Amino acid sequence: MSESQYQLETLAVRAGTSRTEFGEHSEALFLTSSFVFESAEQAAKRFIGEEPGNIYSRFTNPTVTMFEQRLAALEGAEQCVATASGMSAILSTCMAFLKAGDHVIASQSIFGSTVNLFNNVLKKFGVETTFVSATDVAEWQKAVRPNTKLFFLETPSNPLTEISDIAGIAAVAKSCGALLAVDNCFCTPILQRPLELGADIIIHSATKYLDGQGRVLGGAVLGSKKLMEPVYGFLRTTGPTMSAFNAWVFLKGIETLKLRMEAHSANALQLAQWLEQQPNVKRVLYPGLPSHPQHALAMKQQKTGGGIVAFELKGGKVEAWRVIDNTQMLSITANLGDTKTTITHPATTTHARISPEARAAAGISDGLIRIAVGLEAVVDIQNDLARGLA
Ligand SMILES: *Cc1c(COP(=O)(O)O)cnc(C)c1O
Repeated sequence: MSESQYQLETLAVRAGTSRTEFGEHSEALFLTSSFVFESAEQAAKRFIGEEPGNIYSRFTNPTVTMFEQRLAALEGAEQCVATASGMSAILSTCMAFLKAGDHVIASQSIFGSTVNLFNNVLKKFGVETTFVSATDVAEWQKAVRPNTKLFFLETPSNPLTEISDIAGIAAVAKSCGALLAVDNCFCTPILQRPLELGADIIIHSATKYLDGQGRVLGGAVLGSKKLMEPVYGFLRTTGPTMSAFNAWVFLKGIETLKLRMEAHSANALQLAQWLEQQPNVKRVLYPGLPSHPQHALAMKQQKTGGGIVAFELKGGKVEAWRVIDNTQMLSITANLGDTKTTITHPATTTHARISPEARAAAGISDGLIRIAVGLEAVVDIQNDLARGLA
């Protein structure tokens, strides 16, 4: 399907579908590790790349290919490389474009495991990372070194929903010859299309909204054909590829992505507005609220505020745990992007390993709660929170 011809909701349902001789309507699940050839000659041609076609599912698999083409169409990317998880998407990107002696500039408000990857794993191989403010473009400019090869950001950020100026940071990356990778997990292409704003590479944890129902792990890297070549090369050689079964689950999940993202956003906005009215809530962080520090930028680069709401209580840890422990319906878990609403206390879970000073500097206080708003009725979510908020 030509990407320009169809709207996003159409692409989400139909892009990438290819049928077998059986004419199945729903995409086929190819649970096979390898593929057979008609002759020794065909095998030889496939292996040296003279003839297109599948060889082995670490290299390509038809169900995974359908997922890649569907997501590529949604992001407006030439190519997509599917991976086993969001983290392996980030690792594959780093391994494709970085070598010993290179320098990375990353937003300090990125996913905890991504921070670990830069700080501990890549450091061991001689790659240095400077962490800068998610919201101050000038800091990115100041951190540039002659050996800077990669910029990495995530917007909105977790858990504070800080918004990074993708176009502004892309311009800085371009001026120093570095690549900009954007983790688009929170928005998905339904709400934000980073390539159109100047990013070179998009990262997804498909585990979250692309599946949408908390079932399987997966990830993706997207960009131009040229940039995806070394990413695919790393994956084909080292093996953190997406399983065919997971790709099939994601294909089904993506079909309802637009409906879900709109519903998550509408619920989140309504919940955020309600939270702002609660006497024991000090502040609410939601990009869709006019009170959000980067509301104008958020509304320029995203269609809606998304599904994640953070709020700070007037109290600290005791009060935050009271709200969480008084819920009866919400799921106490750090996962997000699910039809089921989840609630988490970042200071003692996702960000517990960071020093209290660093947490405070990042604005993650003991009274902060993050909610990944699901698709239940908002009134039921409110009632579940009201008990502990009283
Ligand atoms: C969950 C998450 C990841 C990591 O993805 P996995 O699929 O868990 O490996 C990366 N970035 C963001 C923003 C995430 O929320």
